[in-house]
Formats: sequence, C-alpha cells, structure tokens
Amino acid sequence: VNPSPHELALVSSRVVTPGGERAAAVVIREDRIAAILPPTDLPAGLQQVSLGDLAVLPGLIDPHVHLNEPGRTHWEGFETGTAAAAVAGITTLVDMPLNSDPVTTSVAALAEKRRAAAGKLAVDVGFYAGLVPGSESSLGDLLDEGVLGVKAFLCDSGLAEFPPVTEVELNAVMPLLAQREVPLLVHAELSHPVPAMSDPTCYADYAATRPPTFERRAIELLIKLCEQTRCRVHIVHLADALSLPALRAARARGLPITVETCPHYLTFAAEEIPSGGTLFKCAPPIRSAGNREALWEGLAEGVIDLIATDHSPCPPENKAIDSGRFDEAWGGISSLQLSLAAVWTAASQRGFTLVDVVRWMSAAPARLLGLAAGLAVGQPAHLVVFDADARFTVAGEALRHRHKLTPYEGRSLRGMVRATYVRGELSGPGRGRLI
Ligand SMILES: [Zn+2]
Repeated sequence: VNPSPHELALVSSRVVTPGGERAAAVVIREDRIAAILPPTDLPAGLQQVSLGDLAVLPGLIDPHVHLNEPGRTHWEGFETGTAAAAVAGITTLVDMPLNSDPVTTSVAALAEKRRAAAGKLAVDVGFYAGLVPGSESSLGDLLDEGVLGVKAFLCDSGLAEFPPVTEVELNAVMPLLAQREVPLLVHAELSHPVPAMSDPTCYADYAATRPPTFERRAIELLIKLCEQTRCRVHIVHLADALSLPALRAARARGLPITVETCPHYLTFAAEEIPSGGTLFKCAPPIRSAGNREALWEGLAEGVIDLIATDHSPCPPENKAIDSGRFDEAWGGISSLQLSLAAVWTAASQRGFTLVDVVRWMSAAPARLLGLAAGLAVGQPAHLVVFDADARFTVAGEALRHRHKLTPYEGRSLRGMVRATYVRGELSGPGRGRLI
C-alpha cells in the first residue's frame, strides 16, 4: 500500500508573499509549500480549505523570548510559552540564555535546556548562548552545538548569575563570532551616574534612571567594535530613536549591524503610563509618543530591521503591584501572545500593510537567524491564517501565558489568528521541534 502524501491547499484572496498580497492557493505537500497557484489553476480532487478574505501569512519568527525554563518555570515555561506563541502566529521563537537557571553559558546548561524542552513545544524553538565574564572559552563549543547567536549585557541584567561584559570580553569573542558568522546580540545600555528616584512610583522618575544616553553610549561602543572586528552585531530592543542616526550612518558604511524594537515601544508612550504602573516597567524604558513615531519611521526606512517581543514575564508578586514601586518591580513586559495583534493594530493605523508586518516579523528575523522562511515554494509550510479585521479586547485571563498580567489589559486590538500551521500541520502540543 502506498498512502497518498499529506496534501492540502489553503485558498485565500489575501496571500501575503514577499512580492505583495494576492489571491492564491497555497499547496502544502507533506511539510513544505509545494506550489502557489492562481486559485482557478488548482488541480481537481485536491483537499481545499477556502479561507475567503482571511489572510495567509508565513509563520512569524520571534527572535527574543524569555521562557525561563528550567529553573524559573514558575515564571513561564516551554509548554505555556510555545502555546501562547502559536496563538500569535509565531511558528519559531528563540529563547534567551537568561532567566533560566542555569543560564545558558555552557554546553551542559544548553543540554539541560534541551532536555527540559523535549516533548513540550507547540512551535519550533532555538537557543542563544550567553556571554558573561569567564564564559568566553565555552563559546566555541556552544557554537558547535548550534546556538543561533550569542547574547550579552553591557549593564546589570537583574540577575547576579548573568553579569555584564565589558569591551575586554567583547574583543575576546567578536573575532570568533565574525569568523563563524554568528550574530552577537547585545542589551545596549551603558550606564553613567544619574540622580536617584525622588518618587519611586512615578514613571518619569524611573525613566530618568535609564536615560537615552545609556543606549547611545552603548551603541557607539558597539559600532566601534563592529567596525574593528566585522562581527555581526544585533541591537536588541532599541527604545530610543535618537540612536537611529548613528545606526543609519554605520549601516551606510556597510557594517553588519541589525536592529530590533518591540511591540511595547511601538504601542505605549511614557505620557500615558500611570503612576505606579509597574506592568509597563522594562529596560530600556518606554519613552515619549514622539519617540514612538520616530521608531515607526525607523521601521519604514529599514534602519530598524525587525520587531521582537522580548517577552519577559514573572510571577505577579515580582511586579510590586501593591506598592507600585518601579524600583522594586521586575523589569520585563509580557506580550508574546499579543505581539501580532499589537503590531498590526498600530501599523495599520499608520498606513502600513501586512507585507510590512511580515517583513518585520518573519523575513528579517529569519535573515538574522539564518533560517529558511517565507511564503515561497520549497519553504517549510509554516503558515498563519489571520483575520486582519477582527477586533478584540485584551483580557489577561484568556492568555496562554503562565501569568495573566500584561500592560495590554483592556486594550482594543485588531487582528486574530485563526490557525497556525507548523510544517503543514495545525500546531499543537508536541508539534514543535528544537532547532
Ligand atoms: Zn530580553
């Protein structure tokens, strides 16, 4: 007996290909996209799913997620995190080397992470290695193990076991990373003395403890090191648009620097954050509405390559909800399941299209990570059925995240994922793989 291979066509008036939106039938054979045809050219007898005006997008790739397992699984975890990702149309995510315990700075720690993830994934997951002072000598082995990048901090990470590096450690590893063509991902804040908060519940006081100059100093240093070593540098979670001119100039000189920002920097504005609103605490901080618009311009221009969530949840008690004290709250925003809707809501209000969103949330992350992606023949059939016009009000209780607190609570968002296909099959527990 020769069973016929799994074959299926998704037919929609809005298939989002790299060349634009068009009516098409996306033919899935086994785990790949086998053809993209005019709907009228579909062979008879092929199983079809008629989607009408629901859009078909390539699976999104989130290159910046903290799943915190093993060790802090009570903060998030592979099961809850990847289930939430699937609801957001994310078919691949990359887990940061912190805030798991142990942090991923050795081959043994990476092996522990892989063991912890086994059987729990609803979507594909890759890993980064962490660089901390003293871990430089482990990097070669971690690269051999297939990590997709190396993450370092230039400031306090909030975790004693993940201390910041200096120019010394970066200089020691950047030539190796350049040779292996693996990106160095950096939390780009370099501190200098600032006045203490006078009112710890006041958002402006918190933001003033991490001024935009922290980011600019770090980015200037990274541009210099990139120029010297030609190591690929990826600036994670850019918050301050005043750093864009330096980045634009560096890219114009041909330096291999890429830049990411996050849904929260593109959605919220400092002026709107209430006193004691610790759910909005992240680092670098959310800045003004004017800055937010300048970040959108950076995305339009391409000097900001991509949007990643930096999903960094914690248990409610770590958010200092009762006291509203920014100095006591964990810094990190929980948003994995809301990323596509948050970005699409704000992007569509500004005249951007689904083609733009796919460029920022699928194509550019794939390039950063060296992964195959995109709605094109021969690519893995990671596909998303997206209702671009549906609206909903965020209720944390309905989220698949382990913890339900999110600064998006009560917000009206546009766009709902109706189905997520991983390798041609509807996503579900155990369908994801380790990259
Ligand atoms: Zn992060």
